Amino acid sequence: MKGACALSTWPCRTTPFHGLKCKQHDGLVELVGIAEDCACFAQQFCWCAHCSQRLQPLPGVAPSTIGRMRARRRAEFVAGRLCAIQSLKSLNSPATAPAEGPDRAPVWPDNIIGSITHSGHWALSIAAGRQHYSGIGVDLEEQLSAQSAAEIRAQVFSEWERQRFGIDVDASLTGLAFSAKESLFKALYPITRQHFGFHAAHIVDKPRNGFMQLRLDVDLDPQFRKGRQFDVQYDYFGDRLLTWILVGKTRTNTSHTNDR
Ligand SMILES: [Zn+2]
Repeated sequence: MKGACALSTWPCRTTPFHGLKCKQHDGLVELVGIAEDCACFAQQFCWCAHCSQRLQPLPGVAPSTIGRMRARRRAEFVAGRLCAIQSLKSLNSPATAPAEGPDRAPVWPDNIIGSITHSGHWALSIAAGRQHYSGIGVDLEEQLSAQSAAEIRAQVFSEWERQRFGIDVDASLTGLAFSAKESLFKALYPITRQHFGFHAAHIVDKPRNGFMQLRLDVDLDPQFRKGRQFDVQYDYFGDRLLTWILVGKTRTNTSHTNDR
């Protein structure tokens, strides 16, 4: 893709995701109904010389912040923030880009929680009012080749998962586990401020019909202890996999069990 413009070779489609209703919205794709009370927007972006010159200024972000970034990082940052701004707008929140915190996690307005992801030429953001959810994590990944899956399998799967799913788990399940656990980290880190790795949670059962569950294998804090379970949703488009987790205010979409 070096030298060429990704947007001219792969124009934005109105329904890039298989199982989600999408509509075009000011150059962004709105993923309608990804979850109740959530706003979700995706955008294709490119970091070629032509597109880099046409990057819009971001409300709430000093031009010097973006000016220091390399072309690709700058394009990712701007696209992710534009998705976030559109999510905030549709939640009737001021349309200002979330700042980048010291840990690089986005800093959302006090009454909003959200998550931003990007992979390849796509960026995506989900946000919701704090009254609806306590955590949101979203992760977009390139689907793994058999070779890449083999390389990261031991890193991604816990001992329990290796026994449950076999040591030669296929690339699809490896990719799902990787992305779901990334989403879990992004959902829980802003609440717990605890760093945790892939072995801190395991897939409860084989993913099915865009739905899977993760269960914590460690105590993160008094609220998120070993055994706490999280619903994960996923969808595919093109060569990409999207996973997302919404941590409810109540136990309506998470549950707690002591058995494995
Ligand atoms: Zn371009």
